[in-house]
Amino acid sequence: MKTDQNKVVSITYELREKNKDGEVLETVTSESPLTFILGVGALLPAFEAKLTGLEEGDAFDFILPTADAYGDYSENAVVTVPKEVFMVDGVLQEEMLYEGNTIPMMDEEGNKLNGVVTEVKEDHVVMDFNHPLAGMDLCFQGKVIEVRDATASELEHGHVHDQ
Ligand SMILES: [Zn+2]
Repeated sequence: MKTDQNKVVSITYELREKNKDGEVLETVTSESPLTFILGVGALLPAFEAKLTGLEEGDAFDFILPTADAYGDYSENAVVTVPKEVFMVDGVLQEEMLYEGNTIPMMDEEGNKLNGVVTEVKEDHVVMDFNHPLAGMDLCFQGKVIEVRDATASELEHGHVHDQ
């Protein structure tokens, strides 16, 4: 069966920065493959396009340029956040405020986004809201390990269910 819209696709891959010689950013093995419904917008559109029309067992090898991946790194996404933001019931949640910690936050419109603490100061922290893969060309090398039809309820929910 070929990968196509509304198929449940399982893949393994190695993700490297920039090209085949780049630093390994992520390894997805057959013990815990990435399984998703193609065409419901779960993954980057350019990534899904590259994975369309493949057969079970096919290997893939492609580079998503930054513009088709997570976009340019933006200095505007690095912001100063007052420590009061991290008060819960009047107590500052000091233990989460350390460099490198990723904290799930919400913007003024209620959108969820992750911020990484990059600096901790007396009364504020500096947080980076860029996607961790922003500013990078992404090189994927992997294999399609399973393709099946999505069930009606999977399509209704827009996500994969355990079989
Ligand atoms: Zn569901």
